[in-house]
Amino acid sequence: LLRIEGLGKSFGDRTVFSGVDLEVARGDRIAIIGASGSGKSTLLRCINVLERADQGRVVLGGEPVGEEVRRGDRTETRYSEAALVRLRQRIGMVFQQFNLFPHMTVLGNVMEGLVTVKRMGRDAAARQALAELARVGLADKAEAYPAHLSGGQKQRVAIARALAMEPEVLLFDEPTSALDPALVGEVLDTIQALAGEGRTMLLVTHEIGFAYHMATRVLFLAEGGIYEQGTPDEVLKNPRRPLTQAFIAGHR
Ligand code: ATP
Ligand code: MG
Repeated sequence: LLRIEGLGKSFGDRTVFSGVDLEVARGDRIAIIGASGSGKSTLLRCINVLERADQGRVVLGGEPVGEEVRRGDRTETRYSEAALVRLRQRIGMVFQQFNLFPHMTVLGNVMEGLVTVKRMGRDAAARQALAELARVGLADKAEAYPAHLSGGQKQRVAIARALAMEPEVLLFDEPTSALDPALVGEVLDTIQALAGEGRTMLLVTHEIGFAYHMATRVLFLAEGGIYEQGTPDEVLKNPRRPLTQAFIAGHR
C-alpha cells in the first residue's frame, strides 16, 4: 500500500535520518518510538509531504508521489498542487496539538475538507461529517466551538476530520501527548476502535503499553534511521540492541 524508499532528511548540516526504507501493507499498524529529536515527527511529515524529504521517495498504491525530475546527476521530486491534495486525501494525519480551526464549529471543522477538497455539497458534507462525529461519540458537540471542548474531545474531532476524507493510511503524531492523563484513555479507545476496523496506521507514541497492544510492528528510531524493528514482543519486551534496551528500560 505504502512504500518508503531510501528516505532522507536534513536540516542544514544536521541529518535527521537517511536511508529509511519501510513497506506498509494494508491493515498494518506501525508504532514508531524513539527519543525526543530522533526524527519521528519529521518522518511522518515527510511521508505526507508536509516536509520535503531530500532523498528517496514515497510510493503510494504503486505510484510515486510527486514527479521525479533528473537534474544533472541528481533526482529532484516536484509536487504539483493537485498531487499534494490527492496525497493528503489518501493519507490522513492527526497531530499532537489537534490543529482544529478555532473559528469554525466542530461540524465545520469536519466538513471543511469534504467541501473544499472533495467538492461535496454542503448538505451531503454535513451529513457525512455528523456520521463521523457519531463514530467518535461527539455528534452532540457538532455546533460547539473547539475552545469549549476538552483536549480529548478536540483530538476526537481531529480524528473524525481525518476519517471524513476516507484516507487509506492514518498517521498519528503523539495524539495523546498534549492531554491531561485523565483524557488519554478516550483517545486511545478511539484509535483502538480504528485498529479493530483493520485500518492502516502509523502511530508515533510514548504510550509503550498501548503500542504493545495495538501495533502489528514497532520501529525504534535512533542514530539517524530505523535502529531496530520487529513485532511488539521483539522490540518492546526483548529488544536486542543497546539503545533500544535503554529506551525501553526508561519507559517502564
Ligand atoms: P519529539 O519526541 O520531541 O516530538 P521527534 O522524534 O518527533 O521528537 P523531530 O521533531 O522529528 O523529532 O525532530 C528531529 C530533529 O530535527 C530534531 O533535532 C529537531 O530539532 C530537528 N528539526 C525538526 N524540524 C525542524 C525544522 N523545521 N528546522 C530545523 N530543524 C528541525
Ligand atoms: Mg515529534
